[in-house]
Amino acid sequence: LSFAHCDLPHKLLQNIESAGYEIPTPVQMQAIPAALKGQSLLVSAETGSGKTASYLIPIVSYCANFRKEAVAVTNLKKPLVMVLTPTRELCIQVEEQAKVLGKGLPFKTALVVGGDAMPKQIHRVQTGIEMIVGTPGRLIDLLTKYEIELDSISVLVIDEVDCMLQKGFREQVMQIYRALSQPQVLLYSATVPVEVEKMASSLAKDVNIITV
Ligand code: AMP
Repeated sequence: LSFAHCDLPHKLLQNIESAGYEIPTPVQMQAIPAALKGQSLLVSAETGSGKTASYLIPIVSYCANFRKEAVAVTNLKKPLVMVLTPTRELCIQVEEQAKVLGKGLPFKTALVVGGDAMPKQIHRVQTGIEMIVGTPGRLIDLLTKYEIELDSISVLVIDEVDCMLQKGFREQVMQIYRALSQPQVLLYSATVPVEVEKMASSLAKDVNIITV
């Protein structure tokens, strides 16, 4: 399987090439087609496996196609996808890769993490973006203090689920999930202990398990 076989927007294929990705990594070969089909996934993948691009590529594709079709219907650019990670640093890395893969496409991002002024972050969300990348604590803050519309979020990614649970973020993640309208869920975890499996089954009815 190559990237060109994945039915991706032409511009995205160019961005993948510019990023220097020639062939999909094993996790990408499995996760990209499954995510593009709309399946919910529990992917066991470590840092360095190409996991970030394995969810960003289908997400960029989804957003580009959605905005192309919906632009005539509404100019309101509500966020379409949300990525949760356990740390500010990881969120920043995800956003950096998203910028490379989403270049020249309708794929604007907003960081919602601690350490920066919240009004600035909420304003960024309200300017009309495709993807929110954030940590659970700051996102809960945002949800409880401001009105942000999340009913348009169709894909929820939770990266480093094992780490998320170790840090005690379970309830916060569930609270965020409940604010969404039954999104496709893409879960990534380096290790898959029973708590991670339980979380997966509480977030989606049919979860496809991907191991590489
Ligand atoms: P990750 O596992 O997401 O932390 O990615 C590890 C590194 O691999 C990142 O620097 C990516 O830019 C890079 N990468 C992701 N996919 C590919 C690919 N298909 N070919 C080469 N490098 C890649």
